[in-house]
Amino acid sequence: MDPYTIFADIIAGRAPASKVYEDDDVVAFMDIRPMTPGHLLVVPRVAAKCLAELDPVVGGKLFQVGQRLAGALRESEVGCDGVNFFLADGVTAGQEVFHVHLHVIPRTPGDGFGLRGRPTSPHRADLDYLAGSIRGALARTEAAEGR
Ligand code: 5GP
Repeated sequence: MDPYTIFADIIAGRAPASKVYEDDDVVAFMDIRPMTPGHLLVVPRVAAKCLAELDPVVGGKLFQVGQRLAGALRESEVGCDGVNFFLADGVTAGQEVFHVHLHVIPRTPGDGFGLRGRPTSPHRADLDYLAGSIRGALARTEAAEGR
């Protein structure tokens, strides 16, 4: 896959963006096609295509900055009274730009934004079975990474 994305140019200052925050690890700017007014993207400087490539410490930083920006959105003239975080990891999840990014989406009543899909009602046994499978995968991954 071509490692180039427009976010690399934005981070490097070669492409325009309406920035709201930057530090040594992350840059945050207005989404050019906002779902709602004030929609922000928080992007790591390091060009990780997906979560699996992203240092979890930097992943935590995305959330920290997103949390601060959520507070700023509420206080700003955006005037939202709710915020959604969204992160698409992989084509099937809706990822279009292959440089990890956290969407910070201000919400107001009736803005039309929402997750599609209906919740299901699995039996506890099915939840327990998958929980065990996920615990096993987590333990194997962390053992392989020496954590
Ligand atoms: P994804 O579907 O990958 O989670 O979201 C990619 C986001 O990047 C979209 O919301 C899209 O509007 C935004 N985007 C794509 N190109 C640009 C750009 O050149 N500048 C900015 N600011 N946002 C962009």
